[in-house]
Amino acid sequence: MANNHSYKNGGLKTKSISSSSSSSSYSGYKSKQSVTSGVRRNSTGSSGNSAGGHQKDTPGVSGRVRVAVRLRPRNSEEQSTDADFADCVELQPELKRLKLRRNNWDSDTFEFDEVLTEFASQKRVYEVVAKPVVESVLDGYNGTVMAYGQTGTGKTYTLGRLGDEDTSARGIMVRAMEDIFAEISPETDLISVSYLQLYMETIQDLLDPTNDNLSITEDPKSGDISLPGASLIEVRDQPSFVELLRLGEAHRFAANTKLNTESSRSHAILMVHVKKSVKERDVGASSGEHGSKSHMSRTMKPPVVRKGKLIVVDLAGSERIDKSGSEGHTLEEAKSINLSLSALGKCINALAENSSHVPVRDSKLTRLLRDSFGGTARTSLVITIGPSPRHRGETSSTIMFGQRAMKVENMLKIKEEFDYKSLARKLDVQVESLIAEHERQQKAYQDEVEKIGLEAKKQISEAEKLYADTLEKERLKYQRDCTESIKKLEAQLAVNQEKQGDGRVKVGFKDESFHKKSNGEAQGASASAELIEVKKLLQNEILLRKAADEEIGNLRNQVMQWKRSEAAGSAENLKLRKMLEDEIHQREKLEEEISMLQNQLLQISFDADETRKQLESGHSIDMTGEMGSLISPVRQQQMKYSGEQEKGSVAKLFEQVGLQKILSLLEAEDPDVRIHAVKVIANLAAEATNQEKIVEAGGLTSLLALLTSSEDENIHRVAAGAIANLAMNETNQELIMAQGGISLLAMTAENADDPQTLRMVAGAVANLCGNDKLQVMLRAEGGIRALLGMVRCRHPDVLAQVARGIANFAKCESRASTQGIKSGKSHLIEDGALPWIVKNANNEASPIRRHIELALCHMAQHEVNAKEMISGGALWELVRISRDCSRDDIRILARRTLSSSPTFQVELKRLRLN
Ligand code: ADP
Ligand code: MG
Repeated sequence: MANNHSYKNGGLKTKSISSSSSSSSYSGYKSKQSVTSGVRRNSTGSSGNSAGGHQKDTPGVSGRVRVAVRLRPRNSEEQSTDADFADCVELQPELKRLKLRRNNWDSDTFEFDEVLTEFASQKRVYEVVAKPVVESVLDGYNGTVMAYGQTGTGKTYTLGRLGDEDTSARGIMVRAMEDIFAEISPETDLISVSYLQLYMETIQDLLDPTNDNLSITEDPKSGDISLPGASLIEVRDQPSFVELLRLGEAHRFAANTKLNTESSRSHAILMVHVKKSVKERDVGASSGEHGSKSHMSRTMKPPVVRKGKLIVVDLAGSERIDKSGSEGHTLEEAKSINLSLSALGKCINALAENSSHVPVRDSKLTRLLRDSFGGTARTSLVITIGPSPRHRGETSSTIMFGQRAMKVENMLKIKEEFDYKSLARKLDVQVESLIAEHERQQKAYQDEVEKIGLEAKKQISEAEKLYADTLEKERLKYQRDCTESIKKLEAQLAVNQEKQGDGRVKVGFKDESFHKKSNGEAQGASASAELIEVKKLLQNEILLRKAADEEIGNLRNQVMQWKRSEAAGSAENLKLRKMLEDEIHQREKLEEEISMLQNQLLQISFDADETRKQLESGHSIDMTGEMGSLISPVRQQQMKYSGEQEKGSVAKLFEQVGLQKILSLLEAEDPDVRIHAVKVIANLAAEATNQEKIVEAGGLTSLLALLTSSEDENIHRVAAGAIANLAMNETNQELIMAQGGISLLAMTAENADDPQTLRMVAGAVANLCGNDKLQVMLRAEGGIRALLGMVRCRHPDVLAQVARGIANFAKCESRASTQGIKSGKSHLIEDGALPWIVKNANNEASPIRRHIELALCHMAQHEVNAKEMISGGALWELVRISRDCSRDDIRILARRTLSSSPTFQVELKRLRLN
């Protein structure tokens, strides 16, 4: 069954008309071009086969579900009991209308694709209802033929009759298969069959009863539905198919007897898979697009196989199942029996209304028909009705079902696939012949090459010979020329020598003839001696020149070396000069620094003198200069980073300047001066020896005043630090209290964000918490609340101080309770500190953990606290402390505390922990 998207093709729908509605428009089946493959079947072959109207509908491949109505003749019972009554329906087959009587004077009229009277033959019913679908299937579409109607109206008669004794009685299944066999060729095509029964949402294999719970699968890509477990039996001829149907019927009967069900309650489903190869002519003719292609491209195209699936469904009786259980069904069974049929109805409604959701998955039947009903398949429905007015209700609802089904659109999708196997075989043959051809061509080529090679060799040797001949000729010619030239030269030489001999004779006549020869010899000898001399000289000269050259080379080298070392020297020189300049610069800077320091020193000593003078004269002094602006940035840096130096200088300052003066600076206008002054005081207050002096001099008052007067968080931090230091002393603690220090600290705690400020304030309060006398006041003035409030800052240093304060307070409280000074619950519990205490009792920071463990032990020592501690979860922590605490004293204290408290003991017993 298709979902909505695949059939939304905007096609016209046939409206039913009825006399009760004013609509009377009628539009027949509207054929459309297929949008999927363009394959259309020319159905002229089936025209004239029947008087039915289906031929005009077949040319299209899409449309809607075709619905025919078939009326069963009165059976013998009806003939006798209903003899006096008219049928509840009246058929007008020529108008394809059916009138359903409402009462004696009124009826509703419905139009169907075909109206088959009680006289319609099985043959005609087949041709009207099923033949178009069978043809579609042979064309490669899926198709479905279904019969719907009340039990006993002729569904099985229409679909399933085998017609053994009377061939004219053959039903749709048998006739469809006959048509299929007539259309296929047994060598290439394949028909296989499954036969199933669907009952109570269980699919049974009617061809193999052991398969009694088949599952449906859907190909995620193609959407094809299949039943992998079902028998799929190949049938080759009609008798074997009829045998299969018979076998299926027998199994169906047996299965229903076993389950004690009636076959009218189950659906019988015949599935016929047709795999039909398409002749090339058909492909070309039908698609019209390959005709122009070359032979090559056609041979490369694999043969097309069309796969169609025909489903014939003999639906369960449409009458409602009696839910009272009279048929022996429970209500659950009744629901399950009806499920597939009502799901089919819902899907048809959804499809008919173009609803965006078609509840295909609601039942096995609709899932099974998903790819074969409506949508992309051709579908025919025959609704069967009986004539009896007693079943008017059922007849009416059957008619309505048919009317809705008529609105379901089809949009057929051909299922063709390419037969790659046979293409491969064809290609194999082609490849073989191509290989042979190639071999042949290669051989011819080699022969040709050989021939050309021989030819070339011959030509080469000819050319070589020609060349050698020419060469030889040339050689001989040159030889001849050469000999001739030599001869000529020799002749010339002879002539020349003759000439020379005449010359000598002339000279001899001039000088003495005696000397004629010797004189000539002497001349030659002297000339050669001279030559030797000159040669010698020349050699000498050459030697000298060589030496000179060498010398020059040496000198040049030397010069080069000098030049190099000179360059190196000047670089060195530059470097040194640069260093010198740097040194000078550095020195200048240092000198500047020194003079500045000297200046400062002078200023300081001057100020010191002034101060001393003023001290001596008893006047208050202004130390602004000393503490503030006159301190050079360098000095400030030094002060900041060198605590030792600072302490030293502070001590010196303290000596030199005096406490009073420093304290007065706390009120100085310059904020820098104030911060420095308060730092000095804080440093001083860190030493126990100074604390008393500071307090005596009113330092505590001034520091407390700073908490309100100053807005500067730095001042708050340092002042609080100083107060915390002072608060280590018991007397000072009382003083702080007396001067309203608690509320000032509480206020500071409330306003501060800086963890270090909070740490100082918490430290100061924690110190106060350890004073027995201050317990009541501390709480009354908000000290405890402020302490607990500071846990908002999660800095472990702050939390550690808070924990210390709590531990101190708990200890004092415990002491007061023991002494009978205090009664009632711990103020810590009353002030809501317990949850935080419990939560942090196992804090990973040991300073926090230890203090809280101690606090818990102190609180636990008093029975008044026990109940709250148990409900607050503190008991668990005490148990843990008593077992796991690594500090012996605390562990023992916890254990002792637990064992001495009756309340804890009772609880521990209850928890089976003791
Ligand atoms: P269904 O399958 O809908 O329950 P059947 O096909 O079993 O109904 O039919 C019930 C009875 O009516 C059967 O005996 C059948 O032979 C008979 N019958 C049904 N249709 C016709 C018909 N068109 N002509 C003659 N007899 C019919
Ligand atoms: Mg039946």
